[in-house]
Amino acid sequence: MLFDHCAECQRCCNVEAGYPPLDITLTSTEKKKLGSVCIETRCEHLGPQGCNMGTEKPFGCSLYPLSYNPKNKSFYFDTDCPLMDDYMLGLKDADSDASLHLSRMQETISQLEQTDPKFLKKNHAVDVTYFDLKKIPALHSTTKQFKKKSHT
Ligand code: SF4
Repeated sequence: MLFDHCAECQRCCNVEAGYPPLDITLTSTEKKKLGSVCIETRCEHLGPQGCNMGTEKPFGCSLYPLSYNPKNKSFYFDTDCPLMDDYMLGLKDADSDASLHLSRMQETISQLEQTDPKFLKKNHAVDVTYFDLKKIPALHSTTKQFKKKSHT
């Protein structure tokens, strides 16, 4: 399974020395439930098997290693994530973990474009600061349906 590696890697749930604490961007609904999730060095929700927040896991965390820019409706990938090559390869197969992840993210983003556009804007701005993002032009061809949806 593609994301099995995350429990071992845990890179994205830690803040490297020299970086300021990372305040995870939360949707307005998550803010009401969680208040805030701030990583000084290592996220307090990170257990030996990975994130222990279950269904409460912030959407910004679930979206990673993707970032979404609502301005140009494009997806980006954090090039420091070791899953990048496998994820890209996986997108060629509609049943792969990568394709299922992308489609789940697209569905939620489509809703957030209507209900919480400020979150999407802020989340991408934070991602730009912390990650080394690369635009994924290939995703445009797989997002036709999503784009149609997000404009309705
Ligand atoms: S909330 Fe979970 S996924 Fe997000 S940084 Fe913390 S441990 Fe990682």
